[in-house]
Amino acid sequence: MAELAPGDDRFLTELVDLRRRLHAVPEIGLHLPLTRQLVLEALEGLGLEITLGEAAGSLVAVLRGGRPGPVVLLRADMDALPLVEETGLPFAATTGAMHACGHDLHMAGLVGAARLLAARREELPGDVLLMFQPGEEGHDGAAIMLREGLLEAAGSRPVAAYGVHVAADMPSGVVTTRPGTLMAGYSVLDVQVIGRGGHGSRPHEALDPVPATAEMISALYTHVARRYSAFDPVVLTVGEIHAGSAPNIIPEAAHFRAGVRSFSAATTDRLVADLPELVTALGRAHGLVVRATMRTLMPPTVNDADEAAAFAGAARRLFGEDRSRELEHPRAGSEDFSLVLAQIPGAYGYVGAARDLDPAALPPSNHSPRAVFDDSILADQALLLATLAWERLGRERRARG
Ligand SMILES: [Zn+2]
Repeated sequence: MAELAPGDDRFLTELVDLRRRLHAVPEIGLHLPLTRQLVLEALEGLGLEITLGEAAGSLVAVLRGGRPGPVVLLRADMDALPLVEETGLPFAATTGAMHACGHDLHMAGLVGAARLLAARREELPGDVLLMFQPGEEGHDGAAIMLREGLLEAAGSRPVAAYGVHVAADMPSGVVTTRPGTLMAGYSVLDVQVIGRGGHGSRPHEALDPVPATAEMISALYTHVARRYSAFDPVVLTVGEIHAGSAPNIIPEAAHFRAGVRSFSAATTDRLVADLPELVTALGRAHGLVVRATMRTLMPPTVNDADEAAAFAGAARRLFGEDRSRELEHPRAGSEDFSLVLAQIPGAYGYVGAARDLDPAALPPSNHSPRAVFDDSILADQALLLATLAWERLGRERRARG
């Protein structure tokens, strides 16, 4: 199989135009009718088998190759954030939502990959499953698509899955990834501490939930520092706490929530078992009733070592040594593509989108109302994704003889 050819100038112009039209109509959550319509129109004429999600506004498209072979999955997320855009760009959104995480580039890049692959479909030894996912920003979009049969949508389970995330604070066109954990898992601990309210002057007649809550919070910080390995860290933040209404009243109950980030599946599972038990036991020692739950919203994003090497290798061959770098540490953000990578070996990585990056004055990052993404990277982003699928199917074909 000869290599995939990069697109020409018109290819980039069309992707930039699509990205800017998507940028102007940002939609939040699971149902993104304007966005999905634009993507559908952009995929028209490529001969794809398209299925629209029901529980969410997802879009799954299958590109059938001209030769038999397995399936490779490529993914883009589609949703925006509830932010008032402050970039001042001519195509800035004015609706109170904003593509501040660059998912508009993800969609345009995946459309570009579909075009590059469709142009060579006769030579393609297998099928490519294109996953356009709504609701990545905490709305369970990937989980819903998996429940709706995403992995069976092309007939057989994908042998590999790839995706990219653009980064507003990494230099334009530089591709980074790493084997193993790329991003943290995210879980939320929710604790209700129920006592018995009373007069602040007679604490012995009440059951005060406040000192026990303070103890629980200190115990949580100590627990994760002393009971978990420094080499598989846990980042815990009690970001929310509510109790009481006046200094002379002992409240009936207290409530707090902690966001917990972890970098391996084993540690995530252990935390979910440990932390509710810790706070419940502490409450019991004080005669209080504790209702504690902990839910993992996103597991860690873990790259398969071989697939991460293939990802980095493809970037190096396409763009040169200095534009393919290994990420030294995982990033502590989370991503629900992790749910796909928990089932299918694959790799996820970043494509920098900060033009003329000055490391001394880093630009606003993803999720900032001032985040600006350099969309001249779109042709390369599309080529990288298409090449990952192309080469993976080629390797499979050679392995099967
Ligand atoms: Zn994102």
